[in-house]
Amino acid sequence: MAGRILVVDAVPTNRIVLRVKLSAAFYEVVQAGSGRAALELMRKMRPDLVIAAAELPDMTGRALCAELRRGAGERRLPVVIMHGEDDPGERLATLAAGADDVLARPIDDLVMLARLRSLLRACDAEAELQLRDDTRRALGLAEQGASYAPPALVALVPTGRDAVPPALVEGLRARIEDRVTVIEPDSALRESGAVPDVFVIAEGPGGQGEGLALLPQLRASRRTRHAALIYVARPHQRRAAAAALDMGASDLLAAGPDPEELAIRLRTQIDRKRTADRLRANMRDGLRAAVCDPLTGLYNRRYALPHLSRLAERAGQQRRPYALLLADLDHFKAVNDVYGHAAGDAVLTVLAQRLRDNLRAADLISRWGGEEFLVAMPDTDRGAAQRTADRLCRVMAEAPVPLPDGRLLTVTLSIGVACGPAGGDAQPLELIDSADQALYAAKDTGRNTVVMADTVTTLPRRPAAPELPAAAAAPRREARRS
Ligand code: GH3
Ligand code: MG
Ligand code: MG
Repeated sequence: MAGRILVVDAVPTNRIVLRVKLSAAFYEVVQAGSGRAALELMRKMRPDLVIAAAELPDMTGRALCAELRRGAGERRLPVVIMHGEDDPGERLATLAAGADDVLARPIDDLVMLARLRSLLRACDAEAELQLRDDTRRALGLAEQGASYAPPALVALVPTGRDAVPPALVEGLRARIEDRVTVIEPDSALRESGAVPDVFVIAEGPGGQGEGLALLPQLRASRRTRHAALIYVARPHQRRAAAAALDMGASDLLAAGPDPEELAIRLRTQIDRKRTADRLRANMRDGLRAAVCDPLTGLYNRRYALPHLSRLAERAGQQRRPYALLLADLDHFKAVNDVYGHAAGDAVLTVLAQRLRDNLRAADLISRWGGEEFLVAMPDTDRGAAQRTADRLCRVMAEAPVPLPDGRLLTVTLSIGVACGPAGGDAQPLELIDSADQALYAAKDTGRNTVVMADTVTTLPRRPAAPELPAAAAAPRREARRS
């Protein structure tokens, strides 16, 4: 079933005509003869869309629209109001009252069905985003705070011979607070500059349907696919109008455009786009929060593990070496104990930054545990891995870390290094284990040092960390070589 539509009209023949047309398009139709009956059915049947006559025995279509909106609560329910004839003033008032669209008798079936499809599609897309947002919330992922929305960018794109009438641009600027610009169809697809939030594509008299051709291109482009697209057809272009809605237009003006009506429709499209943008951003930030450590901004273990598997797989296929470093701060518990937890956090943040500054973009740096960091280095042989680890030890030991209270503290690192040889099939988990044993050996050796996993012969015991960190830089021991 394409969807359930509630038809509200006091005149039985009007209801029957609509029911026949909608049923032929595979919609399930429920009918009401008054506003009150419609509200009752709305609770029972939960329609996906409502088409109501402008005049009902007990209330106006506009009043019903407001009641339906209140009743629907969070759920978005598209409401279309049916006018007896096309009166521009009435149409504007109905749109301003919150109706999604206004249809006038005689009904153009082609355009009406395209509009209904488009409204239901938009509603489905919003419901899907909302559902994902609910899941994100249920997972306890971060939420974007409500923030000030900057003015939207509206691009008027005339096609054909006629330029956009200056009166339209002026009329729009007087009615909306958003930025209005006029651009050529080619610029709409250009890969540079600010991306408009809404494109208003107006078919000009001399055009060959360039506007219609533009719609799928804008929908397909990564830059513009989330923009709202309002299509302004020329009078009597019914097929183009219906096709536009099916090709991704978010809204349709049958002719004009009249600045007043366009301003109302723009407001709706901008609001919807902002909501969708916010939900998408929440999703993106939530996902980021799920795979990143909030203190250091580094990837966490959840992200690092599957990444490592892919890295190992690719290294095996390409017969390239790769290396893992497991780095652990020395005497870090004592840093917390002596200087406080905030000082400990500052040390972790500085270490993360130094790791970023001293590793390649291709190296994956992750916070593996509390004060333990795992670095995965593709295309790296044993010698390069050892030199890198030595450098990281040096970088940490040689420059003291500024604490929040202004004091300087020298903190050192111990690092275990394990290498997956070119053409070997070292499994990442085994390699992590080897790096871990090498790290323990580095602690055993006295800390502030690097140990290569292939030099570890006996299983080291986890050494105790009794000393407090020194106030001055500790001299670094030479890395143990094979
Ligand atoms: P070793 O040289 O053997 O590694 O000794 P250590 O003190 O560094 O190791 P230990 O495992 O005994 O202590 C780790 C400490 O790291 C304990 C824990 O409180 C601290 N820690 C873990 N995560 C955080 C964090 O996010 N912030 C702060 N400030 N401390 C943390
Ligand atoms: Mg430690
Ligand atoms: Mg540790």
